[in-house]
Amino acid sequence: MISKPTMKYQKLRLIKSGGEACRKENGFGIIAGHKKKKGTVKEVARLDQKLRDLQHRLRAGEETGARVRRKYKYSKLFRVEPGSKLNLRKINPEFTAGHKKKKAALKELEQLDQRLRALQFRLYAEGQQSLLICLQALDAAGKDGTIIHVSGAMNPQGTRVHSFKVPTREETAHDFLWRIGQRVPARGEVVIFNRSHYEDVLVVRVRGIVPKKVWKQRYQMINEFEKKLVANGTHVLKFFLHISPEEQLRRFKKRLDDPARHWKISESDYTEREFWDDYIEAYKEAVIRTSTKHAPWHVIPSNNKWFRNLAVTRIVVETLEAMNMKFPKPTVNIKNIRRKYHQVVAVDEKKKGRQPVAGETENGDGRQPVKAGKPQDAMVGAMALTEAIPANGEETILSQPLPPTASMPQRIANTA
Ligand code: ATP
Ligand code: MG
Repeated sequence: MISKPTMKYQKLRLIKSGGEACRKENGFGIIAGHKKKKGTVKEVARLDQKLRDLQHRLRAGEETGARVRRKYKYSKLFRVEPGSKLNLRKINPEFTAGHKKKKAALKELEQLDQRLRALQFRLYAEGQQSLLICLQALDAAGKDGTIIHVSGAMNPQGTRVHSFKVPTREETAHDFLWRIGQRVPARGEVVIFNRSHYEDVLVVRVRGIVPKKVWKQRYQMINEFEKKLVANGTHVLKFFLHISPEEQLRRFKKRLDDPARHWKISESDYTEREFWDDYIEAYKEAVIRTSTKHAPWHVIPSNNKWFRNLAVTRIVVETLEAMNMKFPKPTVNIKNIRRKYHQVVAVDEKKKGRQPVAGETENGDGRQPVKAGKPQDAMVGAMALTEAIPANGEETILSQPLPPTASMPQRIANTA
C-alpha cells in the first residue's frame, strides 16, 4: 500500500498502471494511506498554509530561478486565495518569477501563444463552455497591451473584447450589472473585459459616485452574478495588473514623448494619481471580497510588460487546459465521406494521369462552395452587411463574404 509520507503526489498521478492497481486493491476505501477524514482535513489546512507562504516568498522575489519557472502553476502562484489577506504594497511589481532575460521569456511566450490558439480552437469547436477574462488596473498599467497580446494569439472568430467606460445615461438608468450581463461570453467564446463591473466598487467608491451603503452591498451581488455565470459553463478569471506609481509616471512621460500617443493623454490620468492610495485600498477590498474558488483574482506584477504578458497568457492556458474540452463527434460518417468524395476523385484523376490535389472537391479553405441563393437571400445578406458596418472607433473584420444566413461577424472594439 502507498503511504502518505513516502510518496510524492505528483509522482502518484504519473504512475498509471501501478496507481490504478493500488486504488483497485484498496477498493477506493483507503485513499493514498489516509484512513480518517479528520487527519486529512488537518493536512489540507497545513498544505494550504504552505502554499500561501510559498506564494508570499515568490511574490517577494525571495525564491527565484529555474525551479520557480518550471515547477509552479501560475494560476496558483498569483491567485489570491479566497479568504486570505492581501497587502498590495508588499507585492513587488518588478517580480519576474525567476525569468532573468526577456529574450528567453519571449520564446516561452511564443510556445504559450501556440498552445492558447489550439485550446481556443477546441473551446470554439466544443461550443459548451466559455471563458471570461476581466482586466482591471490603474491607468497605463497595461490593459491594452495585455489585450493586444492575448486576443492576438487567438482566432478572432470566437473571441470578443469589450471596454467599459463611464456609463451612458441608459446604462446608469439600470442596475450596475445590466450592461455587463449583455456582454458576457456565449458558449464557445472567450471574452475579455477591459475594465468591468469592478469599476462599480472601485472608481465609484474612490470618487464617491454613490453612497457607501450602495457600493458595499455590491460585493455580494458580484459574487452571486459570477456564480450564476459559472453554473452556466462560463469560467471566470480576474486579473489586477499591478504597477508602481513611478512606473506609471514613466509610462505617461513616454506618451508625452510620442506624438502618436498624444491622443491617449488626459489630464484626469494625472489627477487620479492623487488618489493612488485610495485606489489601492479599494482594489484590496474588492479583491479580497470577491476572490472566490469559482472566480479567482490574480495579482500580476506588471512593471515588466513582457512578464505581464507571460503570466496572464500562462494562467489563461492553464485554465483552458483544466477545462478539458472535447471536439464534438462528427455528424457525418467520415469513412463514407472519404470514400465518396475523395477516393472517387483520386481514381478519376489517376485515370487521367494527374495527381489529385488535397481537398480538390472543396473550396481552397476546406469549405464547401456557396450555392447561388434565392433573390430574397441576397436581401438578408445585404442587411447583415449593413449591420456589420463598424461604429466610431470600431473595426469590423469580415472573414469571408457573408452568406445569406451568416451570423454577425465578431467585433473588435476599442482595443487600440
Ligand atoms: P486607457 O488606458 O487607454 O486610458 P481606460 O480604460 O482608462 O483606457 P478611458 O476612456 O481613459 O479608458 O477611461 C474610461 C473611464 O471610465 C475610466 O476612468 C473608468 O474609471 C471609467 N469608468 C468605467 N466604468 C465606470 C463606472 N461604472 N462608473 C464610473 N466610471 C467608470
Ligand atoms: Mg484612461
